[in-house]
Amino acid sequence: MQTRFSLEQLADPKVAEAESILRKCVHCGFCTATCPTYVTLGNELDSPRGRIYLIKDMLENGRPADEEVVTHIDRCLSCLSCVTTCPSGVDYMHLVDHARVHIEKTYQRPFMNRFTRAVLAAVLPYPARFRAALSLARLGRPFAGLFGSVAALKPFEAMLKLAPSRLPAASPVSKPATHTPTADKRGRVALLTGCAQSVLDPAINEATVRLLTRLGVEVVVPRGEGCCGSLVHHMGREEQALSEARRNVDVWTREIENGGLDAVIITASGCGTTIKDYGHMLRHDPSYAEKAARVSALAKDITEYLTTLELPEQKRQGITVAYHSACSMQHGQQIKAGPKLLLEAAGFAVKEPGEGHLCCGSAGTYNIMQPEISAKLKARKVKNIEATKPDIIATGNIGCITQIASGTAVPILHTVELIDWAYGGEKPDKLKGLKLSA
Ligand code: SF4
Ligand code: SF4
Repeated sequence: MQTRFSLEQLADPKVAEAESILRKCVHCGFCTATCPTYVTLGNELDSPRGRIYLIKDMLENGRPADEEVVTHIDRCLSCLSCVTTCPSGVDYMHLVDHARVHIEKTYQRPFMNRFTRAVLAAVLPYPARFRAALSLARLGRPFAGLFGSVAALKPFEAMLKLAPSRLPAASPVSKPATHTPTADKRGRVALLTGCAQSVLDPAINEATVRLLTRLGVEVVVPRGEGCCGSLVHHMGREEQALSEARRNVDVWTREIENGGLDAVIITASGCGTTIKDYGHMLRHDPSYAEKAARVSALAKDITEYLTTLELPEQKRQGITVAYHSACSMQHGQQIKAGPKLLLEAAGFAVKEPGEGHLCCGSAGTYNIMQPEISAKLKARKVKNIEATKPDIIATGNIGCITQIASGTAVPILHTVELIDWAYGGEKPDKLKGLKLSA
């Protein structure tokens, strides 16, 4: 694609990067067929190609964002299905990241939209605040319908509906500690316990620690870790995202220098995509660029790390698992076969639902901010999953777990919980009382 940026504009390295991404797009439109919002809404401006044109026009003309650009960029899930599909290697992820920062800096959103986004940014990344908010949300749940009757309050209706009816107790695994291996030591890793996941489903990190320590891996939960920054990064809140990234880079650098790390283990693929991008996010910061690149190189999804441990084949369990690959897993990190092979080696019969490339509509805060599109994508995803007639659904991202669980009665677990169980761990609570052959 031809571009018309001035030399003065291109002197800004971030604009120069956006321009080089734009130039790669050859308008072929292959990406439209796999874009969930285009497939759902049928509007070219809600396709990757349409959004690329809107971003080009806005940046080239040095214009502030307007309502049209914001509407269509806000509808983008950042699922990155378009990145997987694009034959020209257009780096849509970094282009839309740049556009979101530009929007945040140049566009005044309506009051309620600003307020809702500020509440999400101030609550979700902080486990204590999030836990308190979920407790309040349970009280407000009977009134969810009232919020739904006013357009600007629909996100609050979505939040109340998504709040779980029962909140698990806080887990000791979320606290700073060193978990020593119970077999011959063969590795040392840091575990990101995360923000929202540690509150919504602490069993995931508990299974991770149990499994890794049984396999001879020392697991450190370092003091000072926090949210990876992904939630605010996708809102265009660059400074907050970078500050969260710098804090984690400092914490893990300290661990690398005192004891060494084979990996930084992440159990939520949405966080994994962002941490693997820390090197890029901090590339213009001379005091962090190198450290951040080192952390990104060590970042591993739990299933990626387990694949390196060569787990033995287990006997068949007679249990059918539908594997839902989160967008951040298959598109963001390009991790495709590993989790399925691990589940098969663990003895499960694995089914892949149709339209596996399409997002479930969770996408960070998307199911709160864009509840109508999100609900359509959830219904489509659940239909495809249920068509495989699974006993259990497995996935690698807490956002997908919460979203899909709200649309089906089939139990949905993190992949690592099933692997832990198959290799000698406890039967997951969600499966207790269910008739399964294992
Ligand atoms: S597939 Fe790639 S090159 Fe083709 S229109 Fe989409 S982004 Fe552009
Ligand atoms: S990231 Fe997903 S929703 Fe956004 S343009 Fe690409 S395919 Fe469409």
